[in-house]
Amino acid sequence: MEKPVVCQECGQAMKGRRGKKFCSDQCRAAYHNTQKSEEEKKVLQLNSILRKNRSILKKLNPEGYTNLRPEVLKQMGFDFRFYTHQFKTDKGEVYYFCYEWGYQVLQQQGKVLIINWQKYMKPFSPLL
Ligand SMILES: [Zn+2]
Repeated sequence: MEKPVVCQECGQAMKGRRGKKFCSDQCRAAYHNTQKSEEEKKVLQLNSILRKNRSILKKLNPEGYTNLRPEVLKQMGFDFRFYTHQFKTDKGEVYYFCYEWGYQVLQQQGKVLIINWQKYMKPFSPLL
């Protein structure tokens, strides 16, 4: 026996052609609205992590150029997995940015160098 086709939104069995996903236009709209808001939630979650990272960099670095141990950032809730963009200098140094605040990992010193794009990087590139 063929499996009955059910509406993806309300779960009601449907008659009619195969490949049909929804019993009505209302169910179709409801389903797509939910999908959209789930997606929107993910974007907002990621945005808030990036904003938090940005504000931590800013707070730790009022002068726009500072050396710190990475633990200090972690303790404040900094999430090293997330950044908005990278910048590689001619020397091959990589900076990770959260908007206009960025950092470079100084491996040998076990520290991170926090910088402000506008103050220290802008002369090199018009990116921001
Ligand atoms: Zn339905």
